Amino acid sequence: MSNITKPHLVIVGAGVIGLTTALLALESGKYEVTVVARDLPGDEKCVGYTSPWAGGSNAKVGRLFYADKPDGILCRGKDGRGRMPYWDAELSTLFRKPPQEKTRVDPPGPNSYAAITIDTSKYLPCLVAEIRRLGCTIIRTNVTHVSQLQSPIIPRKADVVVVCAGLGARHLGGVEDWDCYPIRGQVVLVRAPWYKRGVTKSSKTGDWTYTIPRASGDVILGGFKTDNDWTAHAIPSQTTDILERCIAMAPDLIPVTKSRDRDPKVLVEELRKLVVEEGAGLRPARKGGVRIESEDLVLGGAGNEVIPLVHHYGHSGAGYQASFGSARLCMEEVARRLSAKDTRRQAKL
Ligand SMILES: Cc1cc2nc3c(=O)[nH]c(=O)nc-3n(C[C@H](O)[C@H](O)[C@H](O)COP(=O)(O)OP(=O)(O)OC[C@H]3O[C@@H](n4cnc5c(N)ncnc54)[C@H](O)[C@@H]3O)c2cc1C
Repeated sequence: MSNITKPHLVIVGAGVIGLTTALLALESGKYEVTVVARDLPGDEKCVGYTSPWAGGSNAKVGRLFYADKPDGILCRGKDGRGRMPYWDAELSTLFRKPPQEKTRVDPPGPNSYAAITIDTSKYLPCLVAEIRRLGCTIIRTNVTHVSQLQSPIIPRKADVVVVCAGLGARHLGGVEDWDCYPIRGQVVLVRAPWYKRGVTKSSKTGDWTYTIPRASGDVILGGFKTDNDWTAHAIPSQTTDILERCIAMAPDLIPVTKSRDRDPKVLVEELRKLVVEEGAGLRPARKGGVRIESEDLVLGGAGNEVIPLVHHYGHSGAGYQASFGSARLCMEEVARRLSAKDTRRQAKL
């Protein structure tokens, strides 16, 4: 089938949600796809583009995209060995029973399991390379209103528009979903290639501390979850708080050989020397949860043509782990709307 006969999907957004949706659409062979986005993988990190900020801790994922370069994705056992492509990782076999130790650190006690983590700085460009290989057109532009998604912004008439704009759905004209709100997270990236285990600890007071090692030798330290906080820059006191909590939870972030002085204050300052980046990302949350539903979009211009507008945003702190399942549901909605349109057209003939 030539491209011209396929329905044309225009996807707004090039975060993990937009790119994964584009990937599934292209892999089906049924659609021509254009991705339109203000921010793209490889750009300098900014607060309006959440995907590059994610830790990428991914224990629950069902499928991940895996490219030639395995560095983007990493599976590790508890001991840091056992790197493998994702398809070798039967998730049910990764989980281990909690240790039966008598002395538990913090009830209900630590669970350990082998997990997949994603280096977002490598994973997102891999997704872009793959969708380009499958024929996707990618256009960088700031969309002010979804009805403007036609020539000259896009090369061919859209048959469906899919909005994967993350938190941008709050202000995007024609969507303006005021149920969208940010859950701010601050993270610190340190260079610690010797550190191979990820640890997450949450407490009843709402503290949430984690270390996520990457194949590159960098480790993401976090974190914060603050509702409705739009602060775009790293707050120095939060960076110190993250360093303090992480070193208390995982003292092996500084090997004994590097600092014989195990005084917590000294260790925090040792850890600070390893910082390569600190910053803040806004998780795109939504009251009512992820939105996967459609409505009619009246295109601007002479014809007042109506096409389906499918919403696909609001993944909060789980965009990576939900990406493939959510994109599949979104594509089911796209297919349902297009087949309903076909049925209506045939009835008119
Ligand atoms: C600190 C932190 C840690 C996290 N850790 C994890 C984790 O371990 N695991 C996990 O699964 N998730 C994690 N997340 C959550 C995850 O990052 C998000 O759920 C995910 O990135 C959302 O992706 P998205 O594609 O919906 O939005 P985004 O990545 O924000 O992408 C939105 C896209 O829409 C475009 N856009 C928006 N408005 C417009 C417009 N008007 N015109 C044109 N383009 C527009 C943007 O340019 C961008 O391309 C974390 C998030 C943070 C902040």
